[in-house]
Amino acid sequence: MSSMTRWIGLLSDPKNLETYQRYVETIEPKIGAFLEFDPRRGLTESSAEGPLKGVPFAVKDILAVKGFRLTCGSRILEGFVSPYTATAVEKLQQAGAVVVGKTNMDEFGMGSSSDTSFYKRTNNPWDLDRVAGGSSGGSAAAVACGLVPFALGSDTGGSVRQPAAFCGIYGLKPTYGVVSRYGLVAYASSLDVVGICASTVEITAEMFTHIRGKDDRDQTSVEPPVKAWGNEGAERQVRRIGVVTGNLGLEAGVERAYKTTQEVLRSLGYEIEPVELSMLEYYAPVYYTIAMAEASANLARYTGIRYGYRPEYAENPEELVRKARSEGFGDEVKLRILLGTYVLRSGFQDQYYQRAQRIRTAIRKDFDRVFHEVDVILSPVFPTQAFRHGAEGLDPFQQKVADRFTTAANLAGIPALSFPAGLEGGLPVGFQLMAPVFAEDLLFQVARRFAGVVPPPKAPTNTSPWS
Ligand code: GLN
Repeated sequence: MSSMTRWIGLLSDPKNLETYQRYVETIEPKIGAFLEFDPRRGLTESSAEGPLKGVPFAVKDILAVKGFRLTCGSRILEGFVSPYTATAVEKLQQAGAVVVGKTNMDEFGMGSSSDTSFYKRTNNPWDLDRVAGGSSGGSAAAVACGLVPFALGSDTGGSVRQPAAFCGIYGLKPTYGVVSRYGLVAYASSLDVVGICASTVEITAEMFTHIRGKDDRDQTSVEPPVKAWGNEGAERQVRRIGVVTGNLGLEAGVERAYKTTQEVLRSLGYEIEPVELSMLEYYAPVYYTIAMAEASANLARYTGIRYGYRPEYAENPEELVRKARSEGFGDEVKLRILLGTYVLRSGFQDQYYQRAQRIRTAIRKDFDRVFHEVDVILSPVFPTQAFRHGAEGLDPFQQKVADRFTTAANLAGIPALSFPAGLEGGLPVGFQLMAPVFAEDLLFQVARRFAGVVPPPKAPTNTSPWS
């Protein structure tokens, strides 16, 4: 199991920095995790001291890091360099950690494969013909290859947890608002959270303590109650785990691993209770209605005028905007903007958007009910393991339907952790634990004990001396 100690001080020593760069340069061409890689630049912005001194980490290209590009995987932001740094990143830099680069992603976070990136594709470290997942695919792949011990991502509907499951690592989606969104480019603001991809539970929990907390620059950020922070020696003990049951439509390998995971948890002394999430069939439709509506508003700012991609020629300002947007956005983004404006158009709001909001409230209430019966919930992350690139994989619609397990936590605002649960057919499988708001500690508690029996797997491409 990888430990943080080997990474500490790594980049502070020029000789180690060179060894590190050489390692990344041998692995990266096969994987395509990074859109930009420049640890030396990262060093200039980090504190020379602190508990994370010289520890490399990667940042999804949807989070601002001063001096690095910020493209969100989109052509419309081609060449844009960020003039400021996101709060979550800054907190890690203040603790001494070093940004080594920006990772590949689905355009604006829209997708589950990282293949909607305008720039490149990211390959799964376990099988290069398969996707790393998305939208934080580059971050998850970088961790799985041992290029970094952890990476930041964003999770609007599963984008940290699903790639984590595909790559055999941990993926945390914190409680909504607990991590500042300042510097996170908005996709769907009521669902977006900054998340963590990491190689161990310990690293996930440790980085969470570094990035959380209220921030004056994000009015929606909150200070979690101290009581809930029992990371170190938590007082609350998980006893009952609710397991989502019913006809879940899982691939055979995922189904098998789901059963085994429940048995392992039972053998650890947990009471396993089947729970039914009565709103399950609504998660994906409600998520996509709300996410697209918010995205259509958030993405209105890309006009080609103030920054990013600008067309060669236009007769007038109106044509400039039209050209910038039609040439700058990819198909998936355009589809979502169109559908988003459709559900928001006057006279129809009640039929789609308002209705989705009402169902969202019912989803929250349903979780409140379940958390009266159990301490945490176990559920699948995705019905399949990492799928193939291109036509042999899942089409965009199938990918959306498959978001039915992850989107729940975003709609309810609750924390969720995707953890590796062994291999099936040579590929990793991951499941997720969900907890009530602010109860991240319960997720770490269970995942830590599970890892004692089923340690996280090591990808064949991971020959890192540090992990
Ligand atoms: N796959 C989901 C989507 O395409 C999740 C994306 C995300 O969490 N950013 O919207």
